Amino acid sequence: MPTRRTKRGAERTPLSGDHDVLICGASFAGLSVARELAGSGARVMMIDRYEVGERQTSACAAPTEWLQNMGVAGSMRQTFDQLVIHTPHGTSRYKLPWAFSTFDYRTLCELLDDQNDASFETAKVDGRTGNTIHTDRGDLTAPLVVDALGWRRVLAAPGYQPPDAPLSRGLEVHPHGSSDDLEIWIDRRYVPAGYGWSFPARDEVRVGVGSFDPRFHVKDTTVLLAEDLQRDAVRYQGNWIPHKLRDSTADGIFFAGDSAGHCLPLTAEGIRTAFYFGIALGRELRGVVEGRSTRAAALAAYHAFSAQHEWKFRWMLRTQKAVPRVPPRLLAPAIRAMGAQRFVNWSFDHYLNIAPPSFAAGVSPVARAGEPVAA
Ligand SMILES: Cc1cc2nc3c(=O)[nH]c(=O)nc-3n(C[C@H](O)[C@H](O)[C@H](O)COP(=O)(O)OP(=O)(O)OC[C@H]3O[C@@H](n4cnc5c(N)ncnc54)[C@H](O)[C@@H]3O)c2cc1C
Repeated sequence: MPTRRTKRGAERTPLSGDHDVLICGASFAGLSVARELAGSGARVMMIDRYEVGERQTSACAAPTEWLQNMGVAGSMRQTFDQLVIHTPHGTSRYKLPWAFSTFDYRTLCELLDDQNDASFETAKVDGRTGNTIHTDRGDLTAPLVVDALGWRRVLAAPGYQPPDAPLSRGLEVHPHGSSDDLEIWIDRRYVPAGYGWSFPARDEVRVGVGSFDPRFHVKDTTVLLAEDLQRDAVRYQGNWIPHKLRDSTADGIFFAGDSAGHCLPLTAEGIRTAFYFGIALGRELRGVVEGRSTRAAALAAYHAFSAQHEWKFRWMLRTQKAVPRVPPRLLAPAIRAMGAQRFVNWSFDHYLNIAPPSFAAGVSPVARAGEPVAA
């Protein structure tokens, strides 16, 4: 279990006040929004129920170039230029046109947090009335409010509840150990619709199972996969994972990351999309606080930007629904055929370009302030 650093007891003083921007949620999406507002002079308040980096929310694998461009390369633990795909009838090894890296969640969040000048408080968000956000420590108000709170989409109404909402579910264990391979399993032994994974991160391996069907319980098969890999099923981490894009603005509130369904269907990759849409939102909000834009214009522009990606998310969701219908005996030859290097390059480049790393490059507010950005 992570060490709890969240303020307790007498440290939890009442919270109140007006701000220019209120960012609810300080993980991948919220920290990316805050990064873009650095140096703008705006009074930005960021809140999360945990301290920054305290509670890991994923297996923490992302395209290496994204991590470099966000200035968080110092959090990287292991880098892979190949992906190993196992099916019941064979294994394929794809040589990727670009690399993936696993990283340390706390270090990444701290490096990202170093790039903003927002205030931060730990508080649990309970809901809102208009632009007043109710927390367990009191009410906060701002004309610009961001929900980066993850799949629950706390600041929208009505609530979003599994298993009826379009959510996948994922669970993983974090045993000590090492491996050279980034591996996935498309195998009904582990999950009828979804995949299993083993993501090494230097001295630990993140082994898990994700199910596109929220009604399938992944606990037993996560343990099974860990046993098959002769890993200990220890240190669990799991959550619901949205697989459908939602409105990125509603009732005057901005949503980024999982709260807007920005996690990609099929692969459940939601870190770089949280960076990407968080940056886009931060840039819109910066325009407002610097007087170049209005709140209404920012709402419209950010909504349009997110909606432009809808067809890509829809296409990924179609593939997510199609893959489990492929008979297992056809899966291995199909994956082998798709392993032709030209096809791998073409498909993975298209996939990366849904949220390209160049979006973050060279424009860090820290760089603008003349400070070095880790590369
Ligand atoms: C098991 C698993 C493995 C995954 N592996 C990967 C992977 O390897 N690569 C990848 O790209 N994606 C992965 N994902 C998906 C990825 O984790 C998410 O898409 C990503 O975390 C979304 O980022 P976010 O900032 O929108 O939300 P989150 O990372 O979920 O952050 C939400 C933040 O809001 C805070 N919060 C929530 N509710 C409240 C509240 N009421 N009050 C105050 N604070 C609150 C939380 O403490 C948290 O800090 C995985 C998901 C799961 C479940």
